[in-house]
Amino acid sequence: MIPAASFAGKHVALFGLGGSGIATARALIEGGAQVLAWDDNPDSVAKAATTGIATADLRGADWAKFSAFVLSPGVPLTHPKPHWTVELARGAGVEIIGDIELFCRERTLSAPTAPFIAITGTNGKSTTTALTAHILKSAGRDTQMGGNIGRAVMTLDPPKTNRHYVVECSSYQIDLAPSINPTAGILLNLTPDHLDRHGTMQHYASIKERLVAGSETAIIGIDDSWCAQIAERLERAGRQVIRISKRLPLTDGYFADGTNLMEAVHGRYSKVAFLEGIGSLRGQHNAQNALAAVAACLKVGLDLGEIQSGLESFPGLAHRMEQVGRKGHVLFVNDSKATNADAAAPALSSFPRIYWIAGGLPKEGGIEPLRGFFPRIAKAYLIGEAAPAFSATLGEAVPYEISGTLAAAVEHAAHDAAKDGSGEVVVLLSPACASFDQFKNFEVRGEAFRQAASAIDGVKPIGGAR
Ligand code: ADP
Repeated sequence: MIPAASFAGKHVALFGLGGSGIATARALIEGGAQVLAWDDNPDSVAKAATTGIATADLRGADWAKFSAFVLSPGVPLTHPKPHWTVELARGAGVEIIGDIELFCRERTLSAPTAPFIAITGTNGKSTTTALTAHILKSAGRDTQMGGNIGRAVMTLDPPKTNRHYVVECSSYQIDLAPSINPTAGILLNLTPDHLDRHGTMQHYASIKERLVAGSETAIIGIDDSWCAQIAERLERAGRQVIRISKRLPLTDGYFADGTNLMEAVHGRYSKVAFLEGIGSLRGQHNAQNALAAVAACLKVGLDLGEIQSGLESFPGLAHRMEQVGRKGHVLFVNDSKATNADAAAPALSSFPRIYWIAGGLPKEGGIEPLRGFFPRIAKAYLIGEAAPAFSATLGEAVPYEISGTLAAAVEHAAHDAAKDGSGEVVVLLSPACASFDQFKNFEVRGEAFRQAASAIDGVKPIGGAR
């Protein structure tokens, strides 16, 4: 745990007592603050009280005495409308911050040179965070990973010189971290997402921009126009910017040329790493993630040999294009995290011949946006409530069956794929749907896929992401 000494002897209000809220309250108490905490859910309040955290309805609190208000990132700060606690804090002129801000202040106080890599973007945050941490760890660096992935940031080990922090930041967390100041800040990409919570794309992009604007070095994926403009703006303001592109040869920066990762310096290119043969980093989207991780690792002093060996041993993350098994020329891939068409696109674009398991609880727009990938699909196996609508979209373009359940789909797909004579083929669960009609969540669905695949005679498990 990182004791939050920056509020020693001060009163702090805190709202949101989920896992990270309790951890943050404990870190503040450990650092010597007097915390008063609350949540709209009585069960969460009761649970926090059993861990020794003082709780009271903040409507009745004396806000004048608080030095800060710590808000859980899940609670609306601005949209659709500010939470009632936000109104009270603003009314009393109390600053509103989150756990990432507390972390930044502690690092600045106690070990300002501790390398800190912060990662954001619409897609690929978790993969890039896990990959960066993995490369650093495999190079023998003291590495702590957390934030929006795995452990809440204040539960990490305290900052000290040469301890590396790799922290995934959602836009909500950045919104609550006004002094975020990473050594290397990564902004991967920006596409419309969570606009219910951010109002406009402009506002969403401006929040994400803060993470790179506060960075010593800003690493920015410039393949979308929002990020390209942010890179321009920061450079004009005299900041150090490293551009990355998954598709364009750049004059300066890092870009992907097929599976080769290239560095460009004033228009001269050299190869810095490669992804050929790395099953956990297939696809252009992963080239973007890998480029960002490479740029960040170089920034904190790793050499190319250390980086390449970290890339090669990266196990990948569970449920994101995760290789779970193989039988001869048939690879089984679990992409259960793909809960809408956009999220399924990277997997469908990464394999040339696919036995595709799709369906579940349908999302608006269905699989129409995936039509461009239909020629890659040898056959589709449709499950769940979406099956009739998906079959209508596939029509004559793709052979399909309505399998009903995931177990039947895996069995039939494996059987058909085994008979395919066209080289390596994949049985891919990339459902483009939520899971709730048949499973508790996407993790349980992915696990069911893994089990069904490994139950097939002759399938050898591929370890890694567990
Ligand atoms: P996040 O943490 O931002 O949700 P993840 O790393 O968990 O991202 O990846 C989630 C899904 O997003 C992946 O399964 C893949 O479909 C897609 N994805 C991953 N990286 C990228 C990227 N760089 N660009 C676009 N899509 C991506």
